[in-house]
Amino acid sequence: MISPSKSFLIILSAPSGGGKSSILTELIKTNPRVDYSISYTTRAPRGEEQNGIHYHFVTEDEFFARKEQGDFLETANVFGRWYGTSISYIRSRLDLGRHVAMDIDVQGAAQITHTDVPRVKIFIIPPSMQILRERLIKRGTDSMQEIEKRLRIAHEELKDIPDYDYLVINDDLHIAVQDVQNIIAAEEHRVSRYHSPAQEFLGETHDD
Ligand code: 5GP
Repeated sequence: MISPSKSFLIILSAPSGGGKSSILTELIKTNPRVDYSISYTTRAPRGEEQNGIHYHFVTEDEFFARKEQGDFLETANVFGRWYGTSISYIRSRLDLGRHVAMDIDVQGAAQITHTDVPRVKIFIIPPSMQILRERLIKRGTDSMQEIEKRLRIAHEELKDIPDYDYLVINDDLHIAVQDVQNIIAAEEHRVSRYHSPAQEFLGETHDD
């Protein structure tokens, strides 16, 4: 019998306010094969954020001790704070045949491109800069000065779009989530992601 295709990382990047956390929340709820990679960060929790759920909130000392031990698949400094993805968590989930979705910036995504970890990279973007600005203002969590800074960074991040595999326009959340689900389904069906489909179909044993 043909076994399910190999699991992979689902890397989502978007400008701040691009809507990736809403997409991720829906994705985790609706796709039973996807787990979420909780990042480590040195920034302080905001609002309702909880340690171990939204992030692992750590001191700079702990962050760099982990980095020294080789605990991170990638790290990046974003808005002056450190962020990192736990390699042990990712390996453990991929080994169980589960996909791991993550919300990381363009610097982190670029670092993962240089590893052998199977992945699909998706860039999420609102329909226009004007809409991004309106969403950041409506969110009400940042000062106008901070919003202008985020928009300037967004402008820079757009330059990395060619390094991604897919682009999802987040106009309607429901459609954007469906687009991401469709990408995952297409990736699962790539011939290269299967183990040895012909041999498995024929019932032949193989070393893998
Ligand atoms: P926030 O502090 O607003 O939650 O996230 C700020 C930025 O850090 C976002 O662009 C988010 O994608 C990015 N980020 C969150 N976790 C990680 C991570 O583990 N690695 C990297 N490279 N970026 C991250």
